[in-house]
This record gives sequence, structure tokens and C-alpha cells, in this order.
Amino acid sequence: MTDLESLFAQAAAEAARFRSHLPERPVGVSADLDRVRAGLGGALNEEPADPAEVLAELIAGAEPGLVATAGPRYFGFVIGGSTSAAVAADIMTSAWDQNGFNVATSPAAAVAEEAAGGWLKELFGIPAGAAVGFVTGSQEANTVGLAAGRHSVLSRAGWDVQRRGLRESPRVRVVAGVERHATIDRSLRLLGLGDGEIDAVAADANGAMDMADLERVLATMSGEPIVVAVQSGNVNTGACDNLRAAAELTHAAGGWLHVDGAFGLWAAATPRLAHLVDGIELADSWGCDGHKWLNLPYDSAFVFCADPEATATAVSYTASYLTETRGAVPVPSDYILGSSRRARGFAAWAGMRQLGSRGIGDIIDRCCRLAERFGESLGAAGFDIANDVMLNQVLVGFGDDDRTDRVIAAVQADGACWMGGTTWHGRRLMRIAVSNWTTTEDDVDRSVAAIVRLASSV
Ligand SMILES: *Cc1c(COP(=O)(O)O)cnc(C)c1O
Repeated sequence: MTDLESLFAQAAAEAARFRSHLPERPVGVSADLDRVRAGLGGALNEEPADPAEVLAELIAGAEPGLVATAGPRYFGFVIGGSTSAAVAADIMTSAWDQNGFNVATSPAAAVAEEAAGGWLKELFGIPAGAAVGFVTGSQEANTVGLAAGRHSVLSRAGWDVQRRGLRESPRVRVVAGVERHATIDRSLRLLGLGDGEIDAVAADANGAMDMADLERVLATMSGEPIVVAVQSGNVNTGACDNLRAAAELTHAAGGWLHVDGAFGLWAAATPRLAHLVDGIELADSWGCDGHKWLNLPYDSAFVFCADPEATATAVSYTASYLTETRGAVPVPSDYILGSSRRARGFAAWAGMRQLGSRGIGDIIDRCCRLAERFGESLGAAGFDIANDVMLNQVLVGFGDDDRTDRVIAAVQADGACWMGGTTWHGRRLMRIAVSNWTTTEDDVDRSVAAIVRLASSV
């Protein structure tokens, strides 16, 4: 073996070893940063080091600080794992080191995104003509979708926001639900629209937007440029806004509809749950993560926009040395906020190929059934299930806030599984998100047993 082959073989062997131990290693780790610093800290060496030694040192140093987020009993935040083909493709992505910027820097990267983007639109039922951008996360996807919306509604009002900015522009009215994700606010801050300017729409008990209230809010804004942000998949409850009603109301008011579907958009992939995103095709822009429920490695997300022209106008740029690169394939970076970047399409292509459309639907369906199993088992054990479990999220109360926080801390320290906490409607609750492709009924039952055991001793 050459030195390079043996270095990469060492990396592959360590990667496979880590992943084969994932199901049984303690899921969480205590944030003992001093221990991790002892392995990775210190001054930079002056002289070059041997790559194989560097790799061995990195693996040993990182080990005590690695969290088994890719394993089957990690239920914190909304974090998926990563399928085998997608990880292997990600290794190739690093080895190929293609710049995903455009067709000139990598025809393969551009076409992989074109192909995977087409598959995604078909899975979601998003119009085939929509632009697709491969972005870092739903934060970036929301920013692009809202930027395209800002451009479009102002353009219709006779204002070129690209040239003239917002200082003297007509006022853009931004409408979003009270239960929106916090990244929507950050996008609005970055776009100069101001998170304090949001007209907030009321939600029902499970966190879905109240469509009668949306109608009321929109009725106060006749004729103004309007951008509406709705959501598929509330981070606490999984609730999905009624996209059909939202699209009809928004378009009747002349507005632009953006859907933050970071994980909930995947309901479209399985017939049992597709009703949750009924009307999806009527929106103007959509954001969705690949690194959550599609189980792609970080970082991976998608933005779709029904009006490619508006999106490119809102977020693309040109430079003297770029004019000859606009060819038959859309310029992948016309629809995102980056230029030089990772070729994210390879892992997406391979991940979807491994699963197939049926396999993708099966993951979504299975995770939701496992969430129901959590709800039924923990409810039967006498704990309070605080949401309507209609997707992959479960909220659990263990008595008062203090007791619930102590149960969460005990579960996190125990290592059998990992769940986070949240505050929902003023109450502290355990938050369970089932998003991993390898989680089984046995994983749920083992986790429930650990929670029940720990709760009885708190
Ligand atoms: C996770 C999430 C986001 C942010 O996505 P990132 O991938 O972390 O940028 C936005 N909205 C919702 C509903 C989410 O669940």
C-alpha cells in the first residue's frame, strides 16, 4: 500500500469501528472540556507532522467528546443519523475536493445536484420547474426563500430592492405564526425586515397556525407587499400548518408564501402522512433539511423556489471572470448564499439512491410510529404526554417543572438514551424527536425502561 492508501484505510477502519459501536456506546457525554482539551488543545507545532500520526492523535483526542447523535437512541433536538451510502459518498466528496460553485468548477457536482434536486421535487410534490439550492441548513434555506419573496413582492410594487435597498421602499408586511422557528426571526433580521415588525398569527393548542387568524391579519394589509412564512413541523410538537389554506389566503392578498419545512416537509414522502402537507405545491418557496430526517451527513439542506428568476435575482451575483459559466445546467450557486463550497449533491444523491423513494417513506413512517409508541408507553407509565403526537415529536411532563428537569438531567447522565428539554406553553417538558433511520421498537422500549427507572428514583 502507498502511504496515502494506508492513511485512508486507517481512516476508513476507524470510521467503521466508530459506527459499529454506535448502538452500544453511552449516547451522551458529560461536557468535560478539560479532558477533550488535554487531547486536542495546546500550541500548534512548528514542524510538519506525519499524517498518520495526526489522524491517530485526532481520533484519540476527539473520542471522549463525541456524542452518539448518529446512533439509534439519540432523541435530542431534531437530529438524524447518516446512511451508509451517504457517508461513503461524503468521504468521496472530501477526496474529490470539488468546488460545488458551478458547472466550470465541477460538472459532476452540478449534475449530481440537478439529479438529486429533481428527485427531491418529485418526492415532495413541488413543481418540476422550481429552482433547487443545496444549502448548509434550513436557516440558509429560509433566508433564501424570504429574500426571493422580499424581492418579488417589492418588484410587483414597482420597487427594485436589489438596486435601491429598503431605506425608502414601500413597507414589506411580514406575517408568521407565533410558533415559528427562531431561525425565521434571524433571517428577517439579516434581510433588514426586522423581527419586531412581524405580524404574528395565533396558533391552535398543538402549535399549528390558526387560519382564521391568518385571514384576519391579511385583511388588515390590503394592497401592501406581503410575505407570509408558515411551517411544516413545529420543533416542539411536530404540528404542521395548513398549507392549502395558507396559500389560498396569501395569494388572494397578493403575497408570497414561504414554507419552513425543515423536517415536517418529509410527511410528503409517505401516503399515511402526506395529508399533513396537503397543498404543498401551491407555495412559492420551501426550505427543508437533508441532515435531519433524510439522514444525510452535515451539512445538508435544500431550498426550492417556484420562481427561479426571482430567486437568482434576489441572491446571485456576477463577476467579470464568471460570465462564461452560465450554461445549460442552472448555476447551482445562483440559488444559495455561498460561492466556493462543498459539493453537497453527492451525499444527497447516494443517500436517496440507497433508500429509494420507498425507503425514504418508510423512515418517515417508522419514526412517526415509534413516536406514537413513546407516547403510548410513557402515557401508560403514568406520565403526561403534553402534545398531540401526529408526527415524530413527543413532549412529556414528569410532574412539576423542577421534577421534569431533574428527570431529563438523570436521563442525559445515564447514557442509555438522550432526550432534551423544552418549555412549551409555560411548562418544562422532556422533548423526544425520533428521526434516525436505524431506530427500532427495541430502542424505544429500552429508552422507555430507562426513563421509567430513572424517574422513579428522582
Ligand atoms: C432545525 C430547524 C430549522 C433550522 O435548520 P438548520 O438546519 O439548523 O439551519 C428551521 N426551522 C425548523 C422548523 C427546524 O426544525
